[in-house]
Amino acid sequence: MNTPTTADIVIIGGGVMGASAAYHLAKRGLKDIVLLEKEDFFGTGATGRCAGGVRYQFSTEINVKLSIESLPMIERFKDEIGQDVNYRQCGYLLVATDEKDATTFQHNVTLQNNLGVPTKLLNGDEVRECLPLMNFEDAISGTFNPKDGIVDPNGVVAGYVSAAQKMGVKAFTQMGVTGIRVNGDEVEAVETTQGLIETRSVLNAAGPWAGQIGEMAGVQIPIVPIRRQMFTTNPLKEIPEDFPFVIDFAQSLYFHREGDGLLIGMSNQEEKPGFNQNIDEEFEFVNLEAAVERMPLLERASRASHWAGLYEVTPDAHPIFGGSSVKGFTICAGFSGHGFMHGPVAGKLISEYILDGKFSTLDVSMLDLARFEEQRLIKEYYLV
Ligand SMILES: Cc1cc2nc3c(=O)[nH]c(=O)nc-3n(C[C@H](O)[C@H](O)[C@H](O)COP(=O)(O)OP(=O)(O)OC[C@H]3O[C@@H](n4cnc5c(N)ncnc54)[C@H](O)[C@@H]3O)c2cc1C
Repeated sequence: MNTPTTADIVIIGGGVMGASAAYHLAKRGLKDIVLLEKEDFFGTGATGRCAGGVRYQFSTEINVKLSIESLPMIERFKDEIGQDVNYRQCGYLLVATDEKDATTFQHNVTLQNNLGVPTKLLNGDEVRECLPLMNFEDAISGTFNPKDGIVDPNGVVAGYVSAAQKMGVKAFTQMGVTGIRVNGDEVEAVETTQGLIETRSVLNAAGPWAGQIGEMAGVQIPIVPIRRQMFTTNPLKEIPEDFPFVIDFAQSLYFHREGDGLLIGMSNQEEKPGFNQNIDEEFEFVNLEAAVERMPLLERASRASHWAGLYEVTPDAHPIFGGSSVKGFTICAGFSGHGFMHGPVAGKLISEYILDGKFSTLDVSMLDLARFEEQRLIKEYYLV
């Protein structure tokens, strides 16, 4: 396919946000949509490197509401989009080992229950009963929601891209955006590695790279890339089929079943912003030691694979939805390490904003870019 010379909209970034937005815009009848991805394949940015966790458990009302809209879309994905995404509802079990977290968990369970999410508060003994393979003598409490789980991120991206293509979306890989032309205060064209595309509308869905794309248009977007990494183990016959997604909250250490083994990750709180996606071997060792401490059987496990990716972090760990000071330059990015699960509804919401100038499915207008300057930050506590 030749590079188009004009488009009604150019979407920058072929991760879950760009793919979902392309699909939802096309479904609403927008023609002449161009989706651009700089890498060889769609979904090789944060989306393809993520842990695939999906949860209703958050500490802010807006994040719980995003999950309430988005997770059922994943449940219906095969029927609507025609692609199996393997939604395994194993539940998330968040474990608190310090008093402050335990108190916050209580408030958060009340918030979630009030919004209709059936999260249960467990005491320390109940946590230990649920996790007989783990050392959680210090657990004070835990929270469990059986509808949380794990989904295949590549399936979601591939499903949206191919459904969008069937509706006429022109989707390109190996086409990086190198510049954005702005005339006065209005978008005029997108410069790519394959030529110029004239357009009045650009969607910045570039995840960890969204700040760079903003700079091209002269818009400051406070999204910083922060490296996170994880590894998987060889098959471990002791891990039951229904092993939950366990988060040792104080250590940002997590475990979930992956194939017949485990996927294990831990967030390095000392990590500095940057685009480096190489494994930090030293920190991997820290992660491994912490994991063995919690689950001694891992002493006998071997590593099957490991990789690193980038969180796309905003100052309040909530995403940015909406327009900017440049007319036609819209943003859907900055999901701060938990955006895969919100990708389905995020694409729908941003399509509503682009086509109707307002959000109908859920009011996310408070998550605009202006909130950072106007000090309207909304802090999320459940960061992993
Ligand atoms: C290690 C790790 C674990 C995670 N675990 C979870 C989890 O369990 N659950 C969850 O919900 N979320 C998780 N996340 C977060 C989640 O991956 C992201 O929030 C989400 O994938 C962001 O999607 P995106 O489409 O905005 O970004 P991306 O998937 O990064 O997509 C942006 C795309 O833009 C492309 N791009 C960038 N610059 C350009 C350019 N100039 N021209 C063209 N294309 C460009 C990139 O190549 C990339 O493919 C995790 C993230 C990481 C790194």
